[in-house]
Amino acid sequence: MSNEPTETAGTDDPTDDDLSIQTDVSESVTDHGPTGATGTVVRSDAINVWYNDDQALKDITMEIPENRVTAMIGPSGCGKSTFLRCINRMNDRIDAARVEGDLYLRGKNVYDSDVDPVALRRRVGMVFQKPNPFPKSIYDNVAYGLEIQDVEGDYDEIVERSLKRAALWDEVKDQLDSSGLDLSGGQQQRLCIARAIAPDPEILLMDEPASALDPVATSQIEDLIDELAEEYTVVIVTHNMQQAARISDKTAVFLTGGELVEFGDTQKIFENPESQRVEDYITGKFG
Ligand code: ADP
Repeated sequence: MSNEPTETAGTDDPTDDDLSIQTDVSESVTDHGPTGATGTVVRSDAINVWYNDDQALKDITMEIPENRVTAMIGPSGCGKSTFLRCINRMNDRIDAARVEGDLYLRGKNVYDSDVDPVALRRRVGMVFQKPNPFPKSIYDNVAYGLEIQDVEGDYDEIVERSLKRAALWDEVKDQLDSSGLDLSGGQQQRLCIARAIAPDPEILLMDEPASALDPVATSQIEDLIDELAEEYTVVIVTHNMQQAARISDKTAVFLTGGELVEFGDTQKIFENPESQRVEDYITGKFG
């Protein structure tokens, strides 16, 4: 169709806005500004966020590695979800929110004026705490993710592939026309994961994706996250420290006041953290 990402992006023509991130980000990692260490897909540089006059995040600098699971842990209200929403610019939708600082996706600052947030969100999918399928068929729930992103291709094939990747296909392949709302909570969440990955994003943001689920469904989601990390970079907010320890490669510990107190290999964070505050939090002295 007419709006294929072509060589036109990168000009100063404002009508190219919806293309800019798609082309800029898919270019070489080394082409745009500072990129951090090899294998870094997201790098935040002194991100500060306020809601009106209240500061929710202070100077968050972090590198998120590619094809790994990075967990954000910390007590309620310390800014974990706010940081997640910085990565796909969902905070743009919150009137009270103001973001300062830089956040690079493969070296391209997603806060640059030529970045279109809708195109950005095609590269950065998101799954929320409460499964939120649409009152549509299972098939249409997944196809919707393709339609809003203007993805072209064989929808039957993409829907099947997405449901397989989300470990749901075997359970629903004979009822694709049934409502997504008739599925169990765990199935609904896997349907939402299928919807999020259908446009084939690079990054999957998950905001407490299992906290509304029973233990069996939680365990299925955790297994799935492990598999998804083979193809996607996963960033997950969880209030469940055991879950972070089980499923993540890297852990970021946010503490009260919107500070990132420690970030590193999950095993190190849980077994031998640098910070006394982190140790106190991990061992349950507060939280
Ligand atoms: P967490 O995910 O760690 O629980 P949040 O990012 O949700 O923390 O919240 C961080 C701080 O920002 C909290 O004080 C919260 O009340 C505030 N906050 C979050 N979302 C909004 C919003 N939409 N409007 C105003 N304040 C908000």
